[in-house]
Amino acid sequence: MAQEDIFKKLVAHCKEYGFVFQSSEIYDGLSAVYDYAQMGVELKNNIKKYWWDSMVLLHENVVGIDSAIFMHPTTWKASGHVDAFSDPLIDNKDSKKRYRADVLIEDCIAKYDTKIEKEVKKAEKKFGDSFDKTQFMETNPRVLSNLKKKKELNDRFVKALEDNDLDELKQIIIDNGIACPVSGTKNWTDVRQFNLMFSTEMGSTAEGSSKIYLRPETAQGIFVNYLNVQKTGRMKLPFGIAQIGKAFRNEIVARQFIFRMREFEQMEMQFFVRPGDEIKWFDKWKETRMSWHKALGFSDDKYRFHDHEKLAHYANAATDIEFKFPFGFKEVEGIHSRTDFDLTKHQEFSGKKIQYFDPELNKNYTPYVVETSIGVDRMFLQIISEAYCEETIKKDDGKEDKRVVLKLPAALAPVKLAVLPLVKKDGLPEKAREIIDELKFDFNCQYDEKDSIGKRYRRQDAIGTPFCITIDHDSLDDNKVTIRYRDTMKQERVNISDLYDILKEEVALKTLFKKLK
Ligand code: ATP
Repeated sequence: MAQEDIFKKLVAHCKEYGFVFQSSEIYDGLSAVYDYAQMGVELKNNIKKYWWDSMVLLHENVVGIDSAIFMHPTTWKASGHVDAFSDPLIDNKDSKKRYRADVLIEDCIAKYDTKIEKEVKKAEKKFGDSFDKTQFMETNPRVLSNLKKKKELNDRFVKALEDNDLDELKQIIIDNGIACPVSGTKNWTDVRQFNLMFSTEMGSTAEGSSKIYLRPETAQGIFVNYLNVQKTGRMKLPFGIAQIGKAFRNEIVARQFIFRMREFEQMEMQFFVRPGDEIKWFDKWKETRMSWHKALGFSDDKYRFHDHEKLAHYANAATDIEFKFPFGFKEVEGIHSRTDFDLTKHQEFSGKKIQYFDPELNKNYTPYVVETSIGVDRMFLQIISEAYCEETIKKDDGKEDKRVVLKLPAALAPVKLAVLPLVKKDGLPEKAREIIDELKFDFNCQYDEKDSIGKRYRRQDAIGTPFCITIDHDSLDDNKVTIRYRDTMKQERVNISDLYDILKEEVALKTLFKKLK
């Protein structure tokens, strides 16, 4: 099935099974704003806990905060967001559709990779086992020509961004024949900058009110609290401050479901280090964060680093962790070495000294910062799109059946255990309730007595429940139940008293933490 169709099915599945709803749907929705439903919120909370504990619990020198969404307006002047937090936009005059000029060009660059991949696949088929990919990439004329064109375009694009040359961005779009995907025409407006921050008024009277912003990133809440945390927590460098919270961006083009939203959630950690040590820590956090992603058990070829060629003016190294979504490799997390830019700016704008006294060096300095910044919603989309499977299975009577199963990592699954009495009578429901009352303090359990067992299994598969247990008449005598494993559909008879241990091993976040490097 085409990746696009799978994606459509996934979006429908998220609605049908109570993971994600469009915001204010009864009023036809609000563009690029979504609500997490009864299953979605559990999965989202588990993702946040996986991140939070991996940062704050597992690192002695990382502490957490929860700062307000509203911040003093000067914060955003100091950070540069008022002047420079913008994207270049361009409109197609025929379709009236709006695009990010940089994204149109990036997509065009990516097309060269697709062309190269196609050549490689063709050659692989032709030459079979004797195929040498490295040699092919270095010698095939079509590959070389595409690589050259890609590099030329990329260099021109990077320079235009560096020079903030909006006319040149438009010229690149024209020279490369980029057409609007909707109208198919190349009838473009000029490129202009568009600030992504939402603003509102604080205060009750028109004269007394002031313009404030909804934070476009959580990081600034950490920077302005750096001194407070360092002093009250008696923190010694290197140390980190972690935070999870909402961020708001008036995205020009919001597409692809929860990949790009106008209200979203970030998990950010700022790690404060001695100047000069930042690249060492940047490399260390790159490795730590990649290992956090890979511990989820999806295949390694789904991940890659994308090092930034064009660095923000305050950064001296930056990379993205990209994941292969159904619509291609895209950023889920950014890791940035931000130098002392933010703290220095806040010092300048607030007039307060923001420095660290290093007892070992016996001197004061402004710490450097390495940041890890990941979107909760993109992580949610990554996990659910990777977990979504459609399988053909054989039923007991030999006939074929279909099942949709979310193969979520058990530790993140919204419901850990479904408890299913075979029939609604003869004391089986009571036995089921007894089991739930024993296990509900440790695991999210769901009781279901409606429909056939087969249908109930399907419902649990569709929400990713890793374990189902069935209570039958024998259970009343032998205190055993049938446990059914989601992925293998294997069933076995186990003692009710063993259930806690069986589940605990599999569904604890600890199983993921143990895989971390
Ligand atoms: P992009 O290039 O995709 O716009 P970005 O480089 O602006 O992303 P950052 O500012 O580095 O993103 O933000 C850190 C993380 O926050 C991103 O890696 C992403 O996971 C998440 N994020 C950023 N913007 C959005 C959004 N509009 N919707 C959902 N998540 C987002």
